[in-house]
Amino acid sequence: ELQSEDLGPEQEGLVTAHYGATLDIESEGNPGQPRRCHLRRNLPPLVTGDKVIWRPSNKDDTGVVVALDDRSSLLTRPDNHGRIKPVAANIDYIVLVIAPVPVPHLNLIDRYLIAAETVGIEPVILLNKIDLLDDEGMEMMIDMLSIYQEIGYRILTASTRSDHGLDELKDLLDEHTSVFVGQSGVGKSSLVNVLLPGINTLVGELSEATGKGMHTTTAAKLFHFPAGGTLIDSPGIREFGLWHISPEEVIQGFREFRPFLGYCKFRDCKHEQEPGCAIHKALEEGDITEERLFSYRQILASQQQP
Ligand code: GDP
Ligand code: ZN
Repeated sequence: ELQSEDLGPEQEGLVTAHYGATLDIESEGNPGQPRRCHLRRNLPPLVTGDKVIWRPSNKDDTGVVVALDDRSSLLTRPDNHGRIKPVAANIDYIVLVIAPVPVPHLNLIDRYLIAAETVGIEPVILLNKIDLLDDEGMEMMIDMLSIYQEIGYRILTASTRSDHGLDELKDLLDEHTSVFVGQSGVGKSSLVNVLLPGINTLVGELSEATGKGMHTTTAAKLFHFPAGGTLIDSPGIREFGLWHISPEEVIQGFREFRPFLGYCKFRDCKHEQEPGCAIHKALEEGDITEERLFSYRQILASQQQP
């Protein structure tokens, strides 16, 4: 146990990894050179991406975290018992990676967007593998994604094969903290490999750090892109969004519906065939689309099954 007289002055730091009782903390001037730190007992559980105040040990290369800064956002996920667990902090963008292959299932994009809206972190839709699309395929994709563009989501296109779109992606990531999410096979690892050359397979890194593969789903690690910006990544983060969502979260997750919520004639309106439904009126007036209303109903129904 380190005593106060063994510790150097307080400084700002960033949690770059998290291993049970200890954390890796890097100070602003020393990116990539974290110190293994313990936590003062009065602190809440910390997560990767947290900004902290810490003191280095004068005796060895460890340190002690003494305070936690306010978080601008907190990425969470439910555990096996449905309890909400913090996963990573201070994230600016959830980059939702989709691709022509595997074809996004019906509602999948909306599911991810709802989860992002629930945690209050801005999602950005990244269509990867556009080298696989001919003109007609591209037009269909752009058409589908225009629905999202119109309700205010940013859309980027990329290919890790042709380098298309990577400069724009780097611009987005610069000076921000991001996570990449999306179904398996869309190209998340490939994107990370292009953007973070030299960091080989994330899963390997994490297994090594924890000593066993079983813990990989909870360990999130922070990386600095050489082009600027920060990535927080873990196998668990990549699976973000694919869990149960409550009916309230579902409807709140459709951001363009929100201005109309609370204006239906009936307080318990299901937005189906009820008279005086504000959502229906919005549909008729072109403020929301058929596609999204249909998707809302599908997701709501799918979440109500036991
Ligand atoms: P992840 O599961 O989301 O991490 O996806 P991976 O990065 O493992 O990629 C899945 C497959 O898609 C691999 O065979 C990649 O080589 C391939 N892939 C990744 N990016 C692209 C791309 O831009 N174009 C094409 N054609 N294939 C890609
Ligand atoms: Zn209604």
